[in-house]
Amino acid sequence: MKAIIDGELCSGHGRCEAMGASAYTLDDNGYNAERGKTIVIKPGNEDAARMGAEACPERAITLVED
Ligand code: SF4
Repeated sequence: MKAIIDGELCSGHGRCEAMGASAYTLDDNGYNAERGKTIVIKPGNEDAARMGAEACPERAITLVED
């Protein structure tokens, strides 16, 4: 699984990390630290990735299943 973090939609709510801490990290300003990038979700972190993506109010995270 991969997660595409939209750099323009991410508005720094921090909900992705609150609901999926094992999949996402925030920067010092509360934005997703990987905004604008595509990250590989480690095996075992898929559920956290889904929960964090669903919690994002901006729909900034798009998951791509392998
Ligand atoms: S919840 Fe969404 S908008 Fe907020 S930091 Fe995470 S990706 Fe960005």
